Amino acid sequence: MIQITTPQELRQYRKSIHYETIGFVPTMGALHEGHISLIKQSVRENDKTIVSIFVNPTQFLPGEDLDAYPRKTEADLKICQLAGVDCVFMPTTKAIYTKEEPALKAPKTTGYILEGYHRPGHFDGVLQIVLKLLNLTRPTRAYFGKKDAQQLFLIQNMVQTLYLTTEIVPCEIVREHDGLALSSRNVYLSDEERKHALLLSRSLKRAAKHIIEGERDATKIKTEMMEILSPTKVEYVEIVDRNFHLLHEVEINNSIILVAAYVGSTRLIDNMWI
Ligand code: AMP
Repeated sequence: MIQITTPQELRQYRKSIHYETIGFVPTMGALHEGHISLIKQSVRENDKTIVSIFVNPTQFLPGEDLDAYPRKTEADLKICQLAGVDCVFMPTTKAIYTKEEPALKAPKTTGYILEGYHRPGHFDGVLQIVLKLLNLTRPTRAYFGKKDAQQLFLIQNMVQTLYLTTEIVPCEIVREHDGLALSSRNVYLSDEERKHALLLSRSLKRAAKHIIEGERDATKIKTEMMEILSPTKVEYVEIVDRNFHLLHEVEINNSIILVAAYVGSTRLIDNMWI
């Protein structure tokens, strides 16, 4: 496995690959089983796998946890090596951003509702870094988790509308045995907070149960979820279709139920695809 830190080195590495397929997994590090499932899928489906580890400052808002974001470089490198990664790209901010450069804007509606409403500009930064990384790696396939459903949608939309050639591969959410969706931010949770964090997945499971039983009314489903989530500080509970249009009625095979809530000072998101 090679480790590189500059875009120039990555360009050079990319040039050395002519006919083989390339899988790319962008991450912010502090790798857990969720990331590992993406990496393993890429290793299975491609000749070469590139993983990037970069805590991207442009997707953090002022006051968010950019400086506190967990960084575990040594452990991350070991995980990548064991998973069969060929190349790890770990740039510094200085190496990948210049002071004066064009910036991408997320779409006005789908980029500024839900996550984008509560974190305005977050998706501008996400799209900017993902576009840079896709241009540098020019992968056959790039792997993204359904855990960040709106991010996945916006990246698919960017690839389609900017005519990029990479295939975006959506990957299933990996959870702890008790349902908690894995997240690098879970390390912030105390034992007590972790119990409350479980309410996110529990509320989604309850919603799914009611939908299986025949309920379709989004308001009723959201109201019950809010009750379950009451010990947390809910930012939003919403049901959208796969194009991120808000739904009043659940559509089977075309809906995503989304939740974002603070548990203590930790902001968590989760969702379920229906
Ligand atoms: P991050 O390091 O948080 O930027 O995440 C990197 C990639 O891993 C993104 O595509 C995430 O959606 C994905 N990811 C994070 N957590 C999970 C999870 N629990 N299950 C599946 N994918 C995940």
